[in-house]
Amino acid sequence: MGLSKVANDLVITEGIAGVWFYHWALPDSFVSLCGARVMFTSIPANKWGCTHKNYHIPEWEAKWCSKCVQLSKDRKEEAHESQ
Ligand SMILES: [Zn+2]
Repeated sequence: MGLSKVANDLVITEGIAGVWFYHWALPDSFVSLCGARVMFTSIPANKWGCTHKNYHIPEWEAKWCSKCVQLSKDRKEEAHESQ
């Protein structure tokens, strides 16, 4: 099992503590990379940081967890180093 697979399998989740606050998490986890409790969303991973009417994300309210951004980058860098 390679780290690179894990790094590519992250999904967008929504924090249960507040609305419109999004985190990265592993697909089978109810805890985000940064440790927040999360629930699943239908937002594709490539929509991270985007706002889109189809997903009912108000542009002025959506927040994208900066901790999770950094942690997901760290994961990808680790994956590259191990190859
Ligand atoms: Zn987070």
